Amino acid sequence: MSTFQAPKGTYDLTPPRSATFLAVREAISAPLRDSGYGYIETPGFENVELFARGVGESTDIVTKEMYTLTTKGGDQLALRPEGTASVLRAALEANLHKVGNLPVKLWYSGSYYRYERPQAGRYRHFSQVGAEAIGTEDPALDAELIILADQAYRSLGLRQFRILLNSLGDKECRPVYREALQTFLRDLDLDEETRRRIEINPLRVLDDKRADVQKQLTDAPKLRDYLCDACKAYHEEVRALITAAGVAFEDDEKLVRGLDYYTRTTFEFVHDGLGSQSAVGGGGRYDGLSEMIGGPELPSVGWALGVDRTVLALEAEGVELDLPATTSVYAVPLGEEARRVLFGVVTELRRAGVAADFAFGGRGLKGAMKSANRSGARYTLVAGERDLAEGVVQLKDMESGEQTAVPLTEAAAELAKRLG
Ligand code: AMP
Repeated sequence: MSTFQAPKGTYDLTPPRSATFLAVREAISAPLRDSGYGYIETPGFENVELFARGVGESTDIVTKEMYTLTTKGGDQLALRPEGTASVLRAALEANLHKVGNLPVKLWYSGSYYRYERPQAGRYRHFSQVGAEAIGTEDPALDAELIILADQAYRSLGLRQFRILLNSLGDKECRPVYREALQTFLRDLDLDEETRRRIEINPLRVLDDKRADVQKQLTDAPKLRDYLCDACKAYHEEVRALITAAGVAFEDDEKLVRGLDYYTRTTFEFVHDGLGSQSAVGGGGRYDGLSEMIGGPELPSVGWALGVDRTVLALEAEGVELDLPATTSVYAVPLGEEARRVLFGVVTELRRAGVAADFAFGGRGLKGAMKSANRSGARYTLVAGERDLAEGVVQLKDMESGEQTAVPLTEAAAELAKRLG
């Protein structure tokens, strides 16, 4: 193994591709920021307990995929595998549900860790942008979040994604369904591990990707037939609101998602250009989570969109984001005196809010102009001894190729003016 290799299942973000990741985070969070969601940041690790109780002891995320550690002080911690439990924990700790109006609307962006088998689109470190609306039961809130995610993806230029929607029922009707499903599943021909899963998390068996399992599930009882009237009415209202907003979705009865805390509305965004790891984002309502982690009753809804897979989706669709060049002016000094003078001009430009860079390291004109080109700068400033003697610098427009001599004292102002 090379000394310079990132750990298995991880990768680095380096320029220029890293700029796309920043733009994706910006695009996903923009509709949230415009809709009353405030920014929240929580630690990269939490007490193991939080995820064991919140995400669920029967989920793969907790039993197989969590990075846990014991500190020198004896604390049991886990690198966060997802965002919702942490955000709710932080909101409860800060009493946000008491000091402000409900719902408490929060958005976040960060790194998450799961010990998974790495493959294309599935990593051990990945990043998400997420949103949570805490403390209110209102189908319009579920609809809002789905509509905002759709808006975010569309603003990026993505088109080949689909929204899958389902209702998982609530604490009244889901247990009845769970039992009916267990009775059905126990009679099937399944391996040991799947049989264990029937007892701890039977809905997850519906998610099994294997064809021989799926074949046996054709006549499985359907959750839809077990939803109570309140859940049915709630779900119909969510569907109606999304439909009225012109957002297309597909009803997917098999959508159960891998986390224990979901109730009622669940949804997933899938992209058809990504192969097996097609889920680019997902979420749903989690009315019982607050109580599961020891808080008051706080019905809530949220989602998390994967930044890595969103970037892969952009690449799969061949979408090139319109990323403006980060440098507007590039200064190329020829000689010691010019280096001092132009470095001063660059500092002045930066203070005036113009993005400027400088040919460091005393390279020759040719190499420096190559760097200027690569920077994407609209203008270069070149100055040699003769220019300085005349009190001017050469200002070159990199688009038209046109070059003009500008008095040194006016260079920064002239550039600021030209760049608007
Ligand atoms: P989940 O909480 O599993 O529904 O994850 C939400 C989103 O995070 C998914 O739709 C993916 O886009 C992303 N995601 C989850 N796990 C991974 C992973 N191991 N690697 C990359 N992205 C992931």
